[in-house]
Amino acid sequence: VSFGYEDVSPDEKTARVGGVFSNVAAKYDIMNDAMSGGMHRLWKDRFVRRVKPRSGEAILDMAGGTGDIAFRMAATGAEVTVADINQDMLDCGIERAMERGIEGLSWSCQNAEQLPYPSHMFDAYTIAFGIRNVTFIDRALAEAHRVLKHGGRFFCLEFSTVEWPGFKDAYDLYSERVVPQLGKAIAQDEDSYRYLVESIRRFPPMAEFEQMIRDAGFSQTKVEPIMGGLVAIHSGWKI
Ligand code: SAM
Repeated sequence: VSFGYEDVSPDEKTARVGGVFSNVAAKYDIMNDAMSGGMHRLWKDRFVRRVKPRSGEAILDMAGGTGDIAFRMAATGAEVTVADINQDMLDCGIERAMERGIEGLSWSCQNAEQLPYPSHMFDAYTIAFGIRNVTFIDRALAEAHRVLKHGGRFFCLEFSTVEWPGFKDAYDLYSERVVPQLGKAIAQDEDSYRYLVESIRRFPPMAEFEQMIRDAGFSQTKVEPIMGGLVAIHSGWKI
């Protein structure tokens, strides 16, 4: 199992990822704007448009962190559960929800690899910028499939592999040089942002990840690259 540049044991990865997000929780939202030039907002808007949440639907936003995806979905009247392995991220989300007057969300500390929910409970499962941090991705995908109803849909937003040649070089340089420095300046944490960059590099390419989703039992899988694959939306149905 990889953690940044190192190979570590599965337990060690889970613990270290916990440390990363506890360290960055308070500055997480500011850092997202700084690193992406605000673009993460547009990617998240687009993602939620694809999910098309409807009033009354039960939706599980896994690795929901500080609530960015859940807030967008709750606006439609869907019943959203935000689950995340890190209570510090959830606490920041609960505080943001109170500040914004967003009500009706459930917040729950859970590991995506092993969920306490009964099978066939949710109409949709979303995971944004979360799956690459999970130690055993196949277990998380199997759980996603299990907790969805028949006819339920799976959506994943994640950094992927940039395929535009010129852009790839600029992006690599930006990730290696600029992101850790931003992490140092804004969150006083260069190492966590080095991990985040390296975890993007190690994540499987789009087609390979789509195959993993199919292997978990999903049908009609699709991948939608955004900005040449900088980010991608993967989706599938449980039929
Ligand atoms: N979805 C939010 C967003 O788009 O802003 C948060 C994304 S943040 C980059 C990744 C989140 O994944 C963190 O909050 C982290 O705690 C969570 N995470 C990592 N491993 C997890 C696991 N095994 N189960 C559940 N959440 C996990």
